[in-house]
Amino acid sequence: MNRKKFLKLGSLGLGSLPLFSFSETVVQKPIVISTWESGMGVNAAAWEILGINGKAIDAVEAGAVHMENEINCCVGLGGYPDRDGIVTLDACIMDEHSNCGAVAGIEQIKHPVSVARKVMEKTPHVLLVGNGAQQFAIENGFEKEPPILSDDAIKAYKNWLMKSEYKPIINIENKKEHGPFAPAFFEDGTPNHDTMGLVAMDNAGNLSGAVTTSGMAFKIHGRVGDSPVIGAGLFVDNEVGAATSSGVGEEVIRICGTHLVVEFMRQGYSPELACKKAVERIVNRDRAKAKTLQVGFLALNKKGQFGAYSILDGFTFCVKTGTENKMYKAKHLL
Ligand code: ASP
Repeated sequence: MNRKKFLKLGSLGLGSLPLFSFSETVVQKPIVISTWESGMGVNAAAWEILGINGKAIDAVEAGAVHMENEINCCVGLGGYPDRDGIVTLDACIMDEHSNCGAVAGIEQIKHPVSVARKVMEKTPHVLLVGNGAQQFAIENGFEKEPPILSDDAIKAYKNWLMKSEYKPIINIENKKEHGPFAPAFFEDGTPNHDTMGLVAMDNAGNLSGAVTTSGMAFKIHGRVGDSPVIGAGLFVDNEVGAATSSGVGEEVIRICGTHLVVEFMRQGYSPELACKKAVERIVNRDRAKAKTLQVGFLALNKKGQFGAYSILDGFTFCVKTGTENKMYKAKHLL
């Protein structure tokens, strides 16, 4: 450990923490990691760029765009609507220089992640919302798409309308029917999430990340979760690592979740332990409540080490390196 790092840790009183050394082993790169089982396809799309020496920022955008193209999922225009039956989308992107851009509550635009990138590159701002975000997208060449609901979304919305209960329960698995790597399901079997968060490190060792989602199914119109909020749904610090999240966004926002994960990695925790400590922060606030909701964190450090942790059973993620594209199940706290 060099003197600077030693002093930094010493000043925080962190000498007894489980430290990893940044220089001990070979860095695993390029690498891309992404949330949920749909991460397999997303990783493959990102790899088309990473695998030819491309930049992490382009790779994460490509991965998110791939997800937004899947009409029958909970991301992009095929996502679940809010309680008024309107699909509103959130997305963000962040690069190795801490440049970032985001859109929230955008309607009828197919690729919110690419709009977020334009916000990052073409404006002095970070976050555009609602009609303003849509107007900006159109001004920048994005087409307004007719509103559509996927068959899954229509079915789930009709089911929800029968009770119209506003219960922000998300990502709780029905494993009996669907196996250990099943997506999260409503009682009738339709999935209730699929926020896509991905972070990558390219051959040059630079980190970037992106998130795209339709947010919590049947949310109040105007509700924004963690996904487009930098430091909540996504955070990248090119010196340390990057993290993303999925689950009940309000709980993630309350603790600035992904920023917290990255800060724990800065203190020397492995990606998995850093994610675990962030999960503990949520659970320790209100254990009884935590038993009813899911949050998962996923992180990558500068050595290409990755890890994840969730509150409840069932959070899955996918990892692609030069040798494999593999799905993992995260450890969970409760
Ligand atoms: N985190 C997202 C939100 O709260 C939902 C999800 O992860 O599926 O909007």
